[in-house]
Amino acid sequence: MTQDTNRPGYEDVMESVEEVRSHPLCDIRMLGKSVQGRDIPLVTLTDPAVPDDDKQHALILAGMHGTEESGRSIALELISFLASGREEAAETLRRQVVAVVPCSNPDGAVLATYRNAEDVDIAHTFTFDTAAGTPEGRAIEQFAVPFAPEIVVDIHGLAGGSMMDRVWFEQPWRFTPDRFFLSVIGNAMSGAAEAAGFPQREVSPPLTWKEEEIEGLRLGGKLAAECKSLGLGLEAIEHYYREPEWRAAGLVRLRRLLRFGNEDEFGLGEPGYPTSLVSGSRICGLKAHGIDASSRRRNRVELTRFLATNWAIVDRGADGLDKCARVLVESKGANGPNPRRFAVLLRVRKPCEIQTIQWENEALEENDEHGYRIWEDANSRLIQVNLQAPLGGPGRLVTVRYDCPFFHS
Ligand SMILES: [Zn+2]
Repeated sequence: MTQDTNRPGYEDVMESVEEVRSHPLCDIRMLGKSVQGRDIPLVTLTDPAVPDDDKQHALILAGMHGTEESGRSIALELISFLASGREEAAETLRRQVVAVVPCSNPDGAVLATYRNAEDVDIAHTFTFDTAAGTPEGRAIEQFAVPFAPEIVVDIHGLAGGSMMDRVWFEQPWRFTPDRFFLSVIGNAMSGAAEAAGFPQREVSPPLTWKEEEIEGLRLGGKLAAECKSLGLGLEAIEHYYREPEWRAAGLVRLRRLLRFGNEDEFGLGEPGYPTSLVSGSRICGLKAHGIDASSRRRNRVELTRFLATNWAIVDRGADGLDKCARVLVESKGANGPNPRRFAVLLRVRKPCEIQTIQWENEALEENDEHGYRIWEDANSRLIQVNLQAPLGGPGRLVTVRYDCPFFHS
């Protein structure tokens, strides 16, 4: 048996995983083996009655550091909540596939070590150009990259020093508006835990990406670079709380996070995490093309990989007195596959009325494949222009003509 000071240990995790093996919402498989040959379990939860095409992907990793047992504990609590049949859990599983790796470092859990059995840090040996530096990391990476999650959470534990839990961010990739989204999400998670009576340390703001800092990357950073997943870390304080408190505080934070995957909290016109907006701001951006979550996910990965190696711009100049908003799409890139479709998102302030929408000299109609759709929030009309055209290429314009009473005064 594992020591009481390191509970839940590996055996506890495997027992909990066995308990949900026959659950209709759970799928269990082993991702690979640790250095000492122990299985690394993956529990995938979703509602099989709902087609997967419109589901978001969430990846929850725990226990990469063997001595941070609170992560394993919180992951088990999340599995049991999602399998509980409660309405909130059922709603999440209708809209999302939640993949949980509750014990990423089995040997570290058994040996009560931070690193793996070869004394290598699993969390900090992911790099851009090569596979992870440990068998445990490679097993997880081989699943995670094609899964292309919209959101990834890496759960750790604060074994000493701090008196409060915290949320931190994976490094945001430079073509993404992650700073804004991550701050909103992290603060909401923190706020939910505070409201439930669990003190939180301030969320750590997203850092600017530095190319030279690829050593020490976590999997979340690699996924952010590869497919623009949003990455967050949770830490639970271990010395001052006991296990029931880690579990409760961690679950409150993860439940708040998962709600972002169920609702359109950023006004992007579809429910889910805001990763379909690949780059841009609240007035104009490059968006993944697609009518369902899985086609947007595929296009998001294509666009992200293209942008990683090619200069590209999707830029809105000042609207003219001719009552037009113009967005320039330009890329000189030629490295790697050029995505054959993409979408442009732009906002026009109310009470303006949209009159015509053009791509170069072509008038567009309402259409999900090649055309536009319009919706509104309290202040704006939002226009998504879906284009079946290569992203890379010389400067081309999306032009939106609108009527605006301010111009008449
Ligand atoms: Zn850690």
